Amino acid sequence: MSHELQNWFLPVHYKHLLDSLGPSHPLRRTVLPSDDRTPAPGELTDPLGEEQHSPCRGLIHTYPDKVLLLATLDCAVHCQYCTRGRLIGGGFQGLEKSEGAGSACFQGLGKYEGAGSACFQYLETHIEIRDVLISGGDPLTLPDDELEDLFSNLRGIGHVKNIRLGSKIPAVMPERITPELAAMLAKYRIWLQLHFIHPAELTDEAVRALDTLADAGVPMVSQTVLLKGINDDADTLADLFYGLLQNRVKPYYLFQCDPVLGSSSFRTPVQKGLDLMKELQGRVSGLALPNFCIDAPGGGGKIVMHPDTILRRDGADILLTNYQGKEYRYPDPVQESF
Ligand SMILES: *Cc1c(COP(=O)(O)O)cnc(C)c1O
Repeated sequence: MSHELQNWFLPVHYKHLLDSLGPSHPLRRTVLPSDDRTPAPGELTDPLGEEQHSPCRGLIHTYPDKVLLLATLDCAVHCQYCTRGRLIGGGFQGLEKSEGAGSACFQGLGKYEGAGSACFQYLETHIEIRDVLISGGDPLTLPDDELEDLFSNLRGIGHVKNIRLGSKIPAVMPERITPELAAMLAKYRIWLQLHFIHPAELTDEAVRALDTLADAGVPMVSQTVLLKGINDDADTLADLFYGLLQNRVKPYYLFQCDPVLGSSSFRTPVQKGLDLMKELQGRVSGLALPNFCIDAPGGGGKIVMHPDTILRRDGADILLTNYQGKEYRYPDPVQESF
């Protein structure tokens, strides 16, 4: 295991955090390269089949009314379970660059391409697209003026109603969140989708960054990947989700880890996530509960998974089970037939 911090690029803030948590803290494994990347059955370099759903460089269009825009392939940290590890920072995780990484849809994608690019022509002509999720890489690695240009160009497209931006920067490089950046995000009404995986990431500095964003009026949600030995227990998740709520961030998704090549040391059985959701449901504020889902391999989109709460029908009633496993009966209104 090459768990040496000095030879591996990390933002100063996150390096200090890992140093203070000590050499055995599980967060280290998430951002430091490991030798334990033996491929397991079913794992893929491009698990979401994004390269087959890319109409032009930098866009992934799998749902009718929403689209993913990859604004950059740079990231502040290299999460070892990253779905796009084949692309980020020129490809890491010891993965061979996949076919797609060299194919037209991502080749040369180094940074945001402005108005007039194929990507913008596509967005302008596809009037069914109402929601654009700016991702990457981490878009907040781009300078403010490029971000502003991107936001104002997107806001110039009348049918695009909602713009969101996915970022881990508040957790790993909180000093990037300046009042000026927060004001700009608020001005263009950008929703932030943050990536937090552990309550230890909610450092004083990260909390200040979240305050700056929330005080400026930027709405925020968070996405967490369920990771073996890192956050796959109810106490850690409850602390994380309450910590996010306390800082005005709504937990949005808890993801089953994508089957990216070499990810098996991070992946939990699906049942584990279902059990954790059932346990949390009875314990934590409903507002703290994310949707647990699998991003379907091959590009099927996100599939929300629920613990089985409907047991069976009994005559007109539906039999349900609650978080304690107790049974309850609900008198189901008769469905009108016409
Ligand atoms: C995740 C994702 C979205 C956004 O999905 P939501 O469930 O609306 O958050 C859109 N496009 C692609 C390709 C995605 O992977």
